[in-house]
Amino acid sequence: MRRKLVAGNWKMHGSLVANQRLLEALRTACGDLRGVACAVCVPHPYLAQAASVLAGTAVAWGGQNLSEHDSGAYTGEVSGAMLRDFGCRYALVGHSERRALYGERDALVAAKFQAAQRAGLTPILCLGETLDERNQGATEEVVARQLDAVLSVAGVQALSEAVLAYEPVWAIGTGHNATPAQAEKVHEFLRARVAQHDGGLAGKLQILYGGSVKAGNAAELFAMPDVDGGLVGGASLVADDFIAICRAAENAG
Ligand code: PEP
Repeated sequence: MRRKLVAGNWKMHGSLVANQRLLEALRTACGDLRGVACAVCVPHPYLAQAASVLAGTAVAWGGQNLSEHDSGAYTGEVSGAMLRDFGCRYALVGHSERRALYGERDALVAAKFQAAQRAGLTPILCLGETLDERNQGATEEVVARQLDAVLSVAGVQALSEAVLAYEPVWAIGTGHNATPAQAEKVHEFLRARVAQHDGGLAGKLQILYGGSVKAGNAAELFAMPDVDGGLVGGASLVADDFIAICRAAENAG
């Protein structure tokens, strides 16, 4: 039985005052969740705040990006070791906004995945197709390519310390989530692809769904057998919504 994980992606939102309220609400509410892990991926300047409010609680935290390099003359970049210094457990890698807006291609995403693991972080590797790609029937081809780029450099064993997040680009921030059946089909495909290399590992791999997960649709998405929780953007900024999504994961078992 895989444990569910609900991870929030705050994107470039927040302030010290607003974060404090949100983090304190999560700290209180997530403490008694059973069988579900929670995390928030916050903007880098707020990692110290997340660490100070969440240390010793049931809520983990992480970064939204990291450099593919371990250190050096890379102005403006943040290394995996720096994220670890602030107690991060997770780092998002290959979020579609990084791929689309910052030109992160598969090889760079794979290098960032490896950098995260070198630093002792658990990468949450985001995969997903655009609407055009879906309409062309290329969904599986796209997510397979994105996954294989990591497998080919890191090897399948690397996935034993990683999380996948299927995030159809057309569902992110649009209010139009994939249906549970659409999500399940891709999750099943991804798990089967990993199983071609290692069936045992594939059975244990957490695959999150992301794309307009809300309090009102989380339960039906998390009820799917291959959906192991969610990566949540907009709804992770509202304490009651994020907590309701965590509760839906708890109830989905
Ligand atoms: C995301 O940012 O990864 C995401 C899924 O956003 P939203 O939940 O707002 O669609």
